[in-house]
Amino acid sequence: MKYLTRVNSAARSTFLSVTLIATFAFSLSSWANEKTIISNVNIIDLRTGDIHQHKDVIIDQDRIAKIRSHANPNRKKDQNKNKNSTVINAKGKYLIPGLMDMHIHYYAEDNMALNLANGVTLIRSMWGDEDVRKKIANLKETPESGPTLYSTSELIDGDPPIWKPSIVAADAKQAREVVIAQKDLGFDSLKVYSRLSPQAFTAISKTAKEHQMTIVGHIPVEVGTESAVKQGMDDIHHITDILVYLQSDDSPFGKMSRTQLAAEYDKDRRKFSIELAKFVDKNKIERYAAFLKENGVWSTVTLLVNKNINLTPRARQALFEDERLKYVNQEVRDFWDPKNDFRLKNTSAEQFEALSDNFPIWLEVTRALDKAGAKILLGTDTPNPFIYPGFSVHEELALMVEAGLSPLSALQTATINPAEFLKRDDLGEVKVGAIADLVLLDNNPLTDIRNTRRIAGVINKGKWFSPAQLTQMLEEVEQNNRAQ
Ligand SMILES: [Zn+2]
Repeated sequence: MKYLTRVNSAARSTFLSVTLIATFAFSLSSWANEKTIISNVNIIDLRTGDIHQHKDVIIDQDRIAKIRSHANPNRKKDQNKNKNSTVINAKGKYLIPGLMDMHIHYYAEDNMALNLANGVTLIRSMWGDEDVRKKIANLKETPESGPTLYSTSELIDGDPPIWKPSIVAADAKQAREVVIAQKDLGFDSLKVYSRLSPQAFTAISKTAKEHQMTIVGHIPVEVGTESAVKQGMDDIHHITDILVYLQSDDSPFGKMSRTQLAAEYDKDRRKFSIELAKFVDKNKIERYAAFLKENGVWSTVTLLVNKNINLTPRARQALFEDERLKYVNQEVRDFWDPKNDFRLKNTSAEQFEALSDNFPIWLEVTRALDKAGAKILLGTDTPNPFIYPGFSVHEELALMVEAGLSPLSALQTATINPAEFLKRDDLGEVKVGAIADLVLLDNNPLTDIRNTRRIAGVINKGKWFSPAQLTQMLEEVEQNNRAQ
């Protein structure tokens, strides 16, 4: 999605000057040095699913300072001491940690507002281009103005790469140089892609280990799941390579070498997937899940993008009537037309049908990963077709539940699991000392995952955003897109 971020910079600076200054004006006056008390709330413990009723959560600066019983006799006295406190009456409401989207592409400044308005307080960019690096630096000045932004390196692919602006690592020597260059840019995580050769991948994984960097992204076709995992792949995205892994014993592809498979993939990627799916042996799904569990490998499963990339023309047409289209700019909307997407433009209606029919495999693998206790991270891959910053996190949660995860497990993929992956024990939980990234909900998401959409307020790094402020943020994004 790199070219999207490039062409957008002009539009973005207009947005910055007009909209964000207005947003900051009200934020600073109500935030600095004051305590916020979320009063009489039900806290959901996302480790256990327990609900701690009638609690007061006291937020000081950007941290949760105290959690006490609402019935505490000292409550009144405490409140008098802090006359400037903002007290939020949360009676009957539910408090969860801020949600995290572990696969995004940052394409415009409005991504900040769209995520916050949806209760998303941390995002991981999967392409650390210059705009992303600037945004990370900029958020250090005003962390409450957007979700925490992590990023992997730039996209590292073989020669020629699938996406034109990728960093190419054609051989082992170049791969080592690329890793060191990305480390020098400040990244501690490498994004690897489908066309890397085994020699380049091995050099990447060795150099990554020397520099304590993680390896995340696609399993390169010529490397394959088993070899990549043995060499230290940390986090597999989109369950890439699953169709090859699941080939039945009598499949013609099962007998091919990895070099031959990569040649088939290069010839026609859509056709390759359709043919592979004809020889899938679902009995091998459990073995796949056990293998990832054994090796401590994470999966950012990205169900929604696996579904949306293969939509039939009819299903796609319906999504062009989605009322949320107003929240994405014209350039992204244009990109969502398959005519303008190099990956999709030569795909026939019949091929889209066949590819769509394979989506249940991704649901089944996700269920198996959860059952095996393999670690899952939530990622949306916005702005791939019809994937909205922020909003689509809730769709992805619902798809996890459709796959067979409990609402509790689904919520863990967007809270405590990302915190664990990022080695941040101050994130992903409602507990004393944690960063105050919180979402207040009208209803219990453990009884119905769709309740994550019923947002009654968001706290980002200690700053309270009321429902009215969140609505205003969305309206500003809409107006800005209309003015383009
Ligand atoms: Zn992506």
